[in-house]
Amino acid sequence: MSVFCTTQTALSTWAQNIAPSPTLAVDAKAKALKAAGKDVCGFGAGEPDFDTPAFIKEACAQALANGQTKYTATPGIPPLRAAIAAAYNALGFAVADSQVVVSSGGKMSCYLAILATVSPGDEVIIPAPYWVSYPEMVKLAGGQPHFISTQDDVGFKVTPEQLREAITPKTRLLILNSPSNPTGAVYSRAELQALVDVALSAGLYILSDEIYERLLYDGQESLHPAIFSTAAAGRVITVSGFAKTYSMTGWRLGTLVASREIASAVADLQSQTTSNVTTFAQYGALAVYQKPAEAEAALAGMLAHFDRRRLRLLEGLNAIPGLRCFRSQGAFYLFPNIASFGLSSAEFCARLLEEELVAAVPGSAFGAEGYLRLSYATADATIEKGLERLARFCQKLRA
Ligand code: GLU
Repeated sequence: MSVFCTTQTALSTWAQNIAPSPTLAVDAKAKALKAAGKDVCGFGAGEPDFDTPAFIKEACAQALANGQTKYTATPGIPPLRAAIAAAYNALGFAVADSQVVVSSGGKMSCYLAILATVSPGDEVIIPAPYWVSYPEMVKLAGGQPHFISTQDDVGFKVTPEQLREAITPKTRLLILNSPSNPTGAVYSRAELQALVDVALSAGLYILSDEIYERLLYDGQESLHPAIFSTAAAGRVITVSGFAKTYSMTGWRLGTLVASREIASAVADLQSQTTSNVTTFAQYGALAVYQKPAEAEAALAGMLAHFDRRRLRLLEGLNAIPGLRCFRSQGAFYLFPNIASFGLSSAEFCARLLEEELVAAVPGSAFGAEGYLRLSYATADATIEKGLERLARFCQKLRA
């Protein structure tokens, strides 16, 4: 029993029940070890290891020099909202500027989408493995997460039957995340369409987290459930952002596109919490649309590196006796199965860091025991060294 009396705590029920983000915690630990001079191989954070493209930084610096340092409209500067709407319109996704909100990160867009649709007691269906923050965000809104578990043998994909069975009269929202963090799984158009159909026929809202929409390999295509039908357009909340595509994680710039009603509620929630995103950062993001050729070239350059690293890490992992790794086709993660070693994923990762200085995130953080997540948004040399260390560690476990 705890020696602390919980009734005496200064903390609210929300604060007592919230867990820190495990991905950020692993990253912080790896960075602290590095700062202390340790030769850590960091596979923890989902963060591109490239600098933000120069033309984006220049646009931001120019805005700062021009005095763009005051409040903007809460949902974003008009030219940026218009540019985001135009980009979706070009995909055949009829979006008015008023349906776009620029938020302080894809994470904030997800949280605001949940706050705008989930009331206390509502259930939210979250396919597992899931990104670490979804369940916590649902709980902060007073909702109840309902997980559908999937494994590597089915490509970490939920079937329409599983979804149908998980829906109850209390279900309000389904969270979709393709390409997936942490597995890198990508749903096909038909698979996604089938899930959207089931959700819409049950009257659910869908949060489609598309933050990895441009990080695709093996010829996969970018899909947007909101364009599947008019019904979908009214019920799907599309979340994306600049962090992963243009290596802008620290800029905190997310996007959200939804029906006018939801977008306006999200803007109101934002106006009472964060207000607008940092003004000059928004002008940096605008450059992505003003200089599309440069933006595409920057993305293509990063993608070539990610793809090469993906294939090398995948091959290296599958060559380690006892490990088995699903071939991811999106984002920048691999999610190997470590069940044969008989350790919990938390213990595996703690020992891997302690004994071999390799930082990875335990599968349990993503609702999937028996796996670990490795981000390959890191240098090739780190991948080679990390693979050697991981192989040595696994060999020791099997000895
Ligand atoms: N989304 C990234 C990750 O999963 C960044 C950290 C976070 O916000 O969780 O590593």
